[in-house]
Formats: sequence, C-alpha cells, structure tokens
Amino acid sequence: MTAQQHTHPLYFVGAGPGDPELITVKGRRLLDQADLVIYAGSLVNKALVEDLSCSCFDSAGMDLREIIDMMVQAHRDGKLVVRLHTGDPAIYGAIREQMQELDKQEIPYEVIPGVSSAFASAAALKKELTVPEVTQTVIFTRQAGRTPVPEPESLKNLARAQATMCIFLSVSLIDTVTRELVEGGYMPQTPVAIVEKASWPDQTIVRGTLENIGERIKESGIRKTAMIIVGPALDEASTKASKLYASDFSHEYRSKSL
Ligand code: SAH
Repeated sequence: MTAQQHTHPLYFVGAGPGDPELITVKGRRLLDQADLVIYAGSLVNKALVEDLSCSCFDSAGMDLREIIDMMVQAHRDGKLVVRLHTGDPAIYGAIREQMQELDKQEIPYEVIPGVSSAFASAAALKKELTVPEVTQTVIFTRQAGRTPVPEPESLKNLARAQATMCIFLSVSLIDTVTRELVEGGYMPQTPVAIVEKASWPDQTIVRGTLENIGERIKESGIRKTAMIIVGPALDEASTKASKLYASDFSHEYRSKSL
C-alpha cells in the first residue's frame, strides 16, 4: 500500500428527497467518479445509481459492521467511496456512528449536504416556514416511537413555542402527534399539511387542521415516507409581509426609500 492510494477521503453524500435532480452538483459528480457506492435503498431514488458502472450496494440488508468493513476495505484499496443517504445526512441519517467508526480507524471523510425532505415538503406546499410576526423558528423533530425522544422535547413540550414544526418519521402515529400538539398549546384549528414522497412523481399532499388531519390521513392511506408540517405559518389568511423588501425598511444593501 502506498501513500498515493489514499488520495481521496470517503464521502457521505446527501441524495436529496427523491427527485434525482435535487442532488447537489458536487454530490452528482462524486457519484459519477465513485468506485463504490453504498446507498440507503429504502428512501434513496434508484435513478441516482442505476446508470453507474461502479459497484453499488443497497445498505438496507447490511448492518453497521458490514457497511464499515466494505467502505474501509475499498478506501484502503485506493477507491473513491460514496455513502449515499436520503435528504440531508445530518437529519435522522445515522451517520454519526459511521463517522465514529471511521475516526477510530483514522479514515478521512467529508460530508456533502443534501436537500432535506423538510425543505422539499415546504417547496411542494409553496410555503415559507418563517413568517414575520407569526413565527421565526422551525423545529425539526419526531414523535417518540421505537426510538425514544427525551421528555423535555416531547411534542407536547415543544408545542409551547407555537413555531413551525417539521415532524419526521411519525405519520403512522398521527393521532398521538395531534393530541400532544393540542395538549401542548396549539389551537385545534392550527393548519397542518402532510406531504408524502415530496418531489417524487407520486407526491401526495393532504391538508387540514389539527382537528381533522388524523381522519384525512387515514382516508388517504398514507402510512410512511411523509412529512408533517404544522404551525400558524401555513395559515393562508396570514398577510404579514417580510420587512426585507418593504420600502420603509433599510438594511445593509439598500437604503430606505423616502
Ligand atoms: N435525512 C432525511 C430524513 C431521513 S428520516 C432528510 O433530510 O429528509 C426518514 C423520514 O424523512 C421519513 O419518515 C419521512 O418523515 C421523511 N422523508 C424522507 N423523504 C421524504 C419525502 N420524499 N417526502 C416526505 N417525507 C420524507
């Protein structure tokens, strides 16, 4: 083994939410140059990897040890390795334990961000998640399920902020979600939107309020791969405008028009 074989780090790449055009230019280039790609098959769009001539493995049937061993071996053989994760790897991506293993083995790596499904869902809804004088905060969270959530950040506790929430991994628990949010302080009339498979050809949107979304979701048959977005920022009636473009608001790049 020569030092030259170790020219590239290993790359964790965000695949984006589904639409193969929603990967970064850098992520696409790395996929095209890769010698080995291990992708999270349950949510990554296969269209991103099906034309690649390199070795490609779906991690769905592999455990952490197998994934790490395969990546490390290929890296040591001087190969360019891409670990492809859905959305942005920093959110519910399980990359932490992989990075810790690589640190132990002193394997260099980099992380290339991706478009999270939270943002693809906001785009599908054509909504801004922060609205002046309504909310200036977005919370990424989930309902506790098989993976527990620390009590201080239960949906009920987070609800107190009345912010916009993007709730991952929880659509199958919609009744618990809506109950906790109302108990925590959201009005039952607060708008909710659920986006299933945001940016995929079969994307589906269901809209409602905390009072009726549970029933609508059951009617729609949506069971998984869906984002719940909730909060007064979704309110159609809100006409509050950002000060950024208002004529009486000056900032660093524009002086007030008089
Ligand atoms: N890292 C990913 C999230 C992985 S966790 C990201 O940044 O998007 C998996 C959860 O993400 C799913 O349960 C669902 O809540 C959400 N999700 C992933 N892809 C989605 C999509 N295309 N549309 C809506 N929700 C999606």
